[in-house]
Amino acid sequence: MKKMVYSLTPDELTAAVADLGQPRYRADQVRQWLYGKRVTAWDAMTNLPRDLRESLAGRFALERPAPVERQVSRDGTRKFLFALADGATIESVIIPMADHATFCISSQVGCAMACRFCATARGGLVRNLETGEIILQVLSLMDDLRDDPLPNVTAGHPNVVFMGMGEPLDNLDAVARSIGIMLDPRGLGLSRRRVRISTSGPGPGLRSLLASDLDVGLTLSLGGADDSARKAVMPVPGRTSVREVLDLAERYGKRTGRRGTVAWVLIAGRTDTPEQAEALGRLLARRPFKVNLIPLNPLDDDALQPAGHADTLAFQAILKRHGVDAFIRASGGRDIAAACGQLRRRRLG
Ligand code: SF4
Repeated sequence: MKKMVYSLTPDELTAAVADLGQPRYRADQVRQWLYGKRVTAWDAMTNLPRDLRESLAGRFALERPAPVERQVSRDGTRKFLFALADGATIESVIIPMADHATFCISSQVGCAMACRFCATARGGLVRNLETGEIILQVLSLMDDLRDDPLPNVTAGHPNVVFMGMGEPLDNLDAVARSIGIMLDPRGLGLSRRRVRISTSGPGPGLRSLLASDLDVGLTLSLGGADDSARKAVMPVPGRTSVREVLDLAERYGKRTGRRGTVAWVLIAGRTDTPEQAEALGRLLARRPFKVNLIPLNPLDDDALQPAGHADTLAFQAILKRHGVDAFIRASGGRDIAAACGQLRRRRLG
């Protein structure tokens, strides 16, 4: 199978074009076509000599993944199921915000973290995504916004969050390379403020992130305010203690100069209790995190239900009493199965 051109960093693309005996400016032209004009065929690169186009086409794949399904929610959330070259399917989502769009993208086919509330967890990990498969999700979502614009939103300047299928720290090499391409002015040229990794917080992954030179935002899903509560909801990441996970995330936040976010999924009777709120408040008091409270997006076939509105407000109030900034976030697209992995799961039957 041909290598995906989107798996190449800008420097690697320069080297690949140089290997074909071409001057440096040709690589700049190719990058312009790929990331500026976002063409989907080598033949569309009309200012390149025909033999260069043919040589590149013989070596590198350029095709977008096929959208198997596209669903639009009443709240404007757009959810996509893409089929990759080997037939594996992944989900990506466009979430409309007031003045921008947030792209929620996948880092793996399936996931090994076994989180109790997540449809992706059910089938286990199938494989890691390649760098190019991550970049192609962003480009495909940009194409969709270009063809079907949202009010007040520029297609080329999304926020990107690794919050789709998979645990991004479990595939950190490809995730880091793709972020490099997103942030490079010769690639997608996004601001680092626009890119965020959302993790379930496996200890080994957090340590690798800390040791890396990445400096994008970090959202940590805890699942419980003590080790046994966390382990019950998130069995694999829960092998690392809550305190260690928070220490690692705090050190990452200090290194990058960015306050971290704790994502707290509110599950009725489990993670929405006053006891969990008190414990979380004590844990986060005087730590540099804000909390996003997210009512569970329930799965079709599961007994777990979202917290009620009153319990959500009470949970928020307890955190605030501990001096913790806490915000209630809607989980969008309920009418289109926008919870992570549900669309793919329905297709797989
Ligand atoms: S919530 Fe995220 S980390 Fe947990 S199983 Fe689902 S995809 Fe994996």
